[in-house]
Amino acid sequence: MASEELNPFKIAQQQLDKAAEIMDLDPAAHAMLREPMRTLIVRIPVKMDNDTVKVFTGFRVQHNDALGPTKGGIRYHPNETLDTVKALAMWMTWKCSIAGLPYGGAKGGVICNPKEMSMNELERLSRGYVREVWWFIGPEKDIPAPDVYTNPQIMAWMMDEYSKIRGFNAFGVITGKPISVGGSLGRRDATARGGIVHIREAAKYLGIDLKKAAVAVQGYGNAGYYAAKLSRVLLGCKVVAVSDSKGGIYDPKGLDPDLVLKHKSESGSVIDYPGATNITNEELLELDVDILIPAAIENQITSKNADRIQAKMVAELANGPTTPEADEILHERGIFVIPDFVCNAGGVTVSYFEWVQNITGYYWSEDEVHSKLDRIMANAFRSMVNTFEDYRRKITPRTAAYIVAVKRVVQAMKDRGWI
Ligand code: NAD
Repeated sequence: MASEELNPFKIAQQQLDKAAEIMDLDPAAHAMLREPMRTLIVRIPVKMDNDTVKVFTGFRVQHNDALGPTKGGIRYHPNETLDTVKALAMWMTWKCSIAGLPYGGAKGGVICNPKEMSMNELERLSRGYVREVWWFIGPEKDIPAPDVYTNPQIMAWMMDEYSKIRGFNAFGVITGKPISVGGSLGRRDATARGGIVHIREAAKYLGIDLKKAAVAVQGYGNAGYYAAKLSRVLLGCKVVAVSDSKGGIYDPKGLDPDLVLKHKSESGSVIDYPGATNITNEELLELDVDILIPAAIENQITSKNADRIQAKMVAELANGPTTPEADEILHERGIFVIPDFVCNAGGVTVSYFEWVQNITGYYWSEDEVHSKLDRIMANAFRSMVNTFEDYRRKITPRTAAYIVAVKRVVQAMKDRGWI
């Protein structure tokens, strides 16, 4: 057997190809969707604190804008690659489409190590990035957001730089901003909260009693912590295991996510939490739980461990945690996977709310954000499951979601006369 493909862009293309074959996709539509519409590579000179100039490379990729302006985060990472950004841009197209948002997909990145940079250097890099890409982005064109190692402060600098260049306040150019400059309430836990709606809907569909369900969460950052907390608070589940990059902890009696977070902030990791057993990340994935929530990094469930996963449902809050081979194995074994671009669409949905609030100048309460998010996520889940049923569960839920998402984009391309 050929070795398992781990290049994210090749994986994204394989996933699209599979959906294209099943839905007998028009070749022109397929050709449009296999590659991004536009790719920009920029060089960013930054004056460092020691007075030398360091030149960084940045990317902005717009995969497809048939449904509306493109949307997607900007990552700062030492190992950033154009292929990763291209894959993530394509996934953003499907994510916005399945959620029914009036957006296409985009992604950006800068090759840098933010952990080795001062705040001043990061500000100069962020403003420098915008000086190179400002003509490529805009509130009606392409709207970035925070992602790996970027945050609300960086979004505020970027919005400010863009506004200075354009000569007016353009809050709607970027989302994930601080509340003081147009950020939305409800953004912090939006990704996890959206995932919780999917888990609730999937439990109804699969007949799982959430009050008796055991949950394991891999990763204890923004997505993982809130997923653990909300699955306990909103769904009544028992969180029996969580982990971070140093390892995991297991307690069959259940963990208190807030106390675990306190322990992690004091000690630097969830491991050695009093009363729990330390486990490895591999062991966490294979625990006998009802719901497994990968919320860390990509390629965690592969052909090597997929036949040992015991959960009834895998809710992918992380991007790309399951390889295509593993996805098939889980499906054959009757394990229901809520695919990443459906499960973690809560973040971009609240980003969309932020943009709507910015361009209308009318701001919503947190309750309004939560109820609108709930409706959009539940609709996305239903559209995926309806297609899954149309194909008599013979395709994976991921392929079903692809079919829904791709159909919507293809319809828009047809109606616009592109294909
Ligand atoms: P984060 O940086 O806040 O947290 C990541 C967590 O994963 C940390 O606890 C880290 O210790 C842990 N981790 C890293 N490597 C690990 C490993 N090998 N094994 C186990 N744990 C490991 O990031 P986040 O924002 O929570 O994002 C997590 C995932 O969710 C990513 O795949 C991201 O793309 C995806 N996601 C996040 C959002 C969001 O709004 N935060 C939105 C969509 C998708």
